[in-house]
Amino acid sequence: MMAKTSKQPRKRTIPQRTCIACREQEGKRALVRVVRSASGVEVDPTGKLSGRGAYLHPRRGCWESALESRGLQRALRTALTAEDITRLRVFAQGLPVAEEDEATETESRLGAID
Ligand SMILES: [Zn+2]
Repeated sequence: MMAKTSKQPRKRTIPQRTCIACREQEGKRALVRVVRSASGVEVDPTGKLSGRGAYLHPRRGCWESALESRGLQRALRTALTAEDITRLRVFAQGLPVAEEDEATETESRLGAID
């Protein structure tokens, strides 16, 4: 057996990212990237904008959690302006509320984010 310095086996080629609201890991394409750009914090559907990014599930509950718990601000290491929050909330309004059984679990974990 070859000992590699990398911790993770190289079988999976899909980079894993963690939703900052519910802390579940997903392939990065299953999550929506939010980026801190020069013009503020915005949704980055292409995942290609430069800047500090954070990932969220494409469901409203995760976005609301991230905004309300300030998890997004921490992840991006910036304060969100009222404009940023409005922009992100508008985006979240277009997302499905939640997927099946995840909502209650997210809520119970909120207090543990810190
Ligand atoms: Zn999530």
